[in-house]
Amino acid sequence: MTDTTLDQIASCLSGYDPNALPVAQAQEFIRRMVPRVQAVESLAIRSALGRVLARDVISPIDVPAHDNSAMDGFAFRSADLSSDTDTVLAIAGTGYAGQQFEGEVPAGQCVRIMTGAVMPAGLDTVVPQEFTKSVDGKVVVPAGVVRAGDNRRLAGEDLSKGAPALRAGRVLRPADLGLLASLGQAEVPVRRRLRVAFFSTGDELRSIGEPLDAGCVYDSNRYTIWGMLQRLGVEAIDMGVVRDDPAALETAFREAAACADAVITSGGVSVGEADHTKAVMRSLGEVLFWKIAMRPGRPMAIGRIGEPGRQAVLFGLPGNPVAVMVTFYAFVREALLAMSGADAAPLPLIRAASATAIRKKAGRTEYQRGIVERGADGNWSVRITGSQGSGVLRSMSEANGLIVLGHEQGNVAAGELVDVVPFEGLV
Ligand code: AMP
Ligand code: MG
Repeated sequence: MTDTTLDQIASCLSGYDPNALPVAQAQEFIRRMVPRVQAVESLAIRSALGRVLARDVISPIDVPAHDNSAMDGFAFRSADLSSDTDTVLAIAGTGYAGQQFEGEVPAGQCVRIMTGAVMPAGLDTVVPQEFTKSVDGKVVVPAGVVRAGDNRRLAGEDLSKGAPALRAGRVLRPADLGLLASLGQAEVPVRRRLRVAFFSTGDELRSIGEPLDAGCVYDSNRYTIWGMLQRLGVEAIDMGVVRDDPAALETAFREAAACADAVITSGGVSVGEADHTKAVMRSLGEVLFWKIAMRPGRPMAIGRIGEPGRQAVLFGLPGNPVAVMVTFYAFVREALLAMSGADAAPLPLIRAASATAIRKKAGRTEYQRGIVERGADGNWSVRITGSQGSGVLRSMSEANGLIVLGHEQGNVAAGELVDVVPFEGLV
């Protein structure tokens, strides 16, 4: 939290070495340092899709409110059900969905009932229409097609009155909107949306629309970062390309820290970088420069910048386009979710057989871009997309998953199982 200094956090991590930091330790560090947004707003449920629930939602009613039928068929008393011969029942009337069958149902009789209709008093079992025969206006239930209590939904089976229906910290999904509607709840308390400012640094960068001078490249990181932020549902504030000039950098960092909860930059954090980015970052707050035991990635700045009491978390990502995405998914994504107040589950992994051998050095985490597919035998396999250079964005665009080779892992043999983070639903 903000009252703990970064040095104090570092001292809690055993063997912390900023120049050779394992991915897991960097993740743990970030987990300990990020604050959570506190402000809460109330939104209509449809506007709350993807937002973070701020408080537990307690069900004010039983859902369903009454015992009701799960099928179109005939409701009867299980006491009338014979287990070894046909059960023959006279029909006392009909119960429609949304209506209560009010009449008395004598023993040995049944009520024709529609899905969702309230169970008539005293009846506890429903036989689906298609299992029955009709003989002389009576319903014949063959032996063995239903057991006592079948096809009856119990009051409160979905949600019981007074029980938490949804927990604070949940990122609301389509089913949750439906659940809230089933409680009759029009609005829901959510945390304020996280504000994330971002800009690119580097004198070689040109924005779209500008001529591409010799030795220059178009700035692609701002588009990648914008896209990744959209998927997280945060408010993304694009501050453009900032020249490698101390005054311009200082203004950009100050403005970003003043308006946002988090600031993401790309470029200028490499070892031996000749530009001013690192010096300006350092002058504006508490900033650490890490060399992370990972590939791609490696250099990254992390810290807090801005005025006391109004500080933003800084993520200074490397400049290479693939490294930006990999470091975002390895560190920034979970941090922004936590800052948003969300219960951030780790990314789901699938185990897939590597189609080829992969060279890998133990002692660092490697993220290779792969194409994962399910074979006719139902098993997953993964192959690497062309060139894996950290500047080759095409490798990321062609991939449908990231192969994650853990810190301890050495060379991978063909056919060996590896972890893959699928992009589906993430990217
Ligand atoms: P740096 O981390 O600043 O040393 O940059 C590493 C490499 O990434 C260099 O080749 C840069 O030109 C490239 N790069 C840096 N920022 C961007 C960006 N915003 N868009 C595309 N390429 C970039
Ligand atoms: Mg640079």
